[in-house]
Amino acid sequence: MARKDIRIGDTVKVERAGDVIPAIAERVPVPGEQRSTPFCMPDHCPVCGSSVGREGAYFYCTGQLVCGAQLKGAIEHFASKHALNIEGLGKKTVAQLVDTGLVRSLADLYRLTSADLVRLEGFADRSATLLLESIAGSKTVSLDRFLMGLGIRQVGQHIAKVLAREFGSLGEIMSADQERFQQIREIGPEISQGLVLYWSEPRNREVITQLQESGVQVAPGMATGDRKQSPLAGKTFVFTGGLDHFTRDGAQQAVEAAGARVSSSVSKKTSYLVAGRDPGSKLDQARTLGVTILTEQEFAALIGEDKNGLS
Ligand SMILES: [Zn+2]
Repeated sequence: MARKDIRIGDTVKVERAGDVIPAIAERVPVPGEQRSTPFCMPDHCPVCGSSVGREGAYFYCTGQLVCGAQLKGAIEHFASKHALNIEGLGKKTVAQLVDTGLVRSLADLYRLTSADLVRLEGFADRSATLLLESIAGSKTVSLDRFLMGLGIRQVGQHIAKVLAREFGSLGEIMSADQERFQQIREIGPEISQGLVLYWSEPRNREVITQLQESGVQVAPGMATGDRKQSPLAGKTFVFTGGLDHFTRDGAQQAVEAAGARVSSSVSKKTSYLVAGRDPGSKLDQARTLGVTILTEQEFAALIGEDKNGLS
């Protein structure tokens, strides 16, 4: 920005650099424009006033637990689809909850009442009830989703699943040391260091305690030992065509919860091909290779999710 004298509000010419990354080529002067002052990286957080730290290319607010902006981000992440999946807790609502002081920590979400919510702009009895229901519905959560929701650095969906599978319970993860984490193939020194650092911070542990006190129950994930006892352990599933009662994500989670895995292509090692609506060429490949082919209903029955009498 400094080199090319780019300021907030400028009109710029963007080019493709490398494969896809857009780069600003130059500023396009607009006759009569009022330009803003040159940008300077702030040395204090514009939201909470804490000092700004730097890690490589990243500048960040050091007021992790007192910063309203970070709290909003943390709640949005906690409630997101792949974490606690709390429907109706979008950016706007989170901002209202934090700005009004109703929510000062993740655990405060579980203390909200209908009376709190209807005071907020845009909330009526019905929308308040729906949000409270989806918050209550998130109280029982699988270990991997819970871990993912905490927003520990570098612990995304995949690593959260790896940890859940390897350790099986939150307590085991909280008490593991760096050496233990590094015994896991997918976990390198950076992630294991991040994990140990996260759990060594008393305030982070306090968040867990508060969440548990407000009724959040983290269902133990399947530890490696238990997983082997599942009849589907080690099996490989491939999906083709559309499913009516599962999202692809949901189907994958069900498969993984049973200790099996999902692959994207059919091979001799494929255990089951699940053929939904309008299956693709994978169906023919499976037939040629003699792979067991399941309908969606048969799949649901196999993984034990046939509760709704799919038909
Ligand atoms: Zn801040």
